[in-house]
Amino acid sequence: MDSNADRNARHKRAMQRKKALVDARIAAATVDKGLLLVLTGNGKGKSSSAFGMLARSVGHGLRCGVVQFIKGQWECGEHLLFHNHPLVEFHVMNTGFTWETQDREKDIAAARATWVHAATLLRNPEVQVVLLDELTYMLTYGYLDAAEVIAALQGRPPQQHVIVTGRNASDALIALADTVSEVQDTKHAFNNGVRVQKGIDY
Ligand code: ATP
Ligand code: MG
Repeated sequence: MDSNADRNARHKRAMQRKKALVDARIAAATVDKGLLLVLTGNGKGKSSSAFGMLARSVGHGLRCGVVQFIKGQWECGEHLLFHNHPLVEFHVMNTGFTWETQDREKDIAAARATWVHAATLLRNPEVQVVLLDELTYMLTYGYLDAAEVIAALQGRPPQQHVIVTGRNASDALIALADTVSEVQDTKHAFNNGVRVQKGIDY
């Protein structure tokens, strides 16, 4: 059997090799640019991850904009926390979930009016981080013109970061993005009859 000293020496050599690899990758990453991040998939954790990045950005004093394309029934914690924050411009589409409004014309009008805020943020180089929460549904339902949305994302200020959330992100959005995470639905408490929990779900 190996002595503890042998194991420790092997561990140290392995960590040295690992550090050399990580250091080389860090040294090779020299580009600074505005990123497009897409958080998609059926699992829980898309909007909460996006608002986590918003919290980080605000912590660093970055100027941010948020546009929420679907307003839930519950007043969410992220809105309560950020809507009056001096660094955050916060817009919420003033309708509920699409299956609740059941009025296509009204939803389309609301989506387009809300998109105007997003488009304005995407033209403003002073806004460093833009979060477009649940934007993908507006494209899936065809409420917004996909080509117009892609063009606005492409034409944004080069240093501006944009985070898009929502299920079924389109191929065009994924192709344009720098970072894409697909959150998998391995398990969800809701499927076992647990209702939405304050702080965790909203
Ligand atoms: P979160 O805001 O918690 O990160 P999300 O943005 O990934 O969730 P959405 O599709 O926007 O997910 O759903 C919003 C609400 O639906 C949240 O209350 C969330 O907990 C719940 N939810 C998310 N994924 C699932 C799922 N797979 N099954 C049931 N409910 C879900
Ligand atoms: Mg969400």
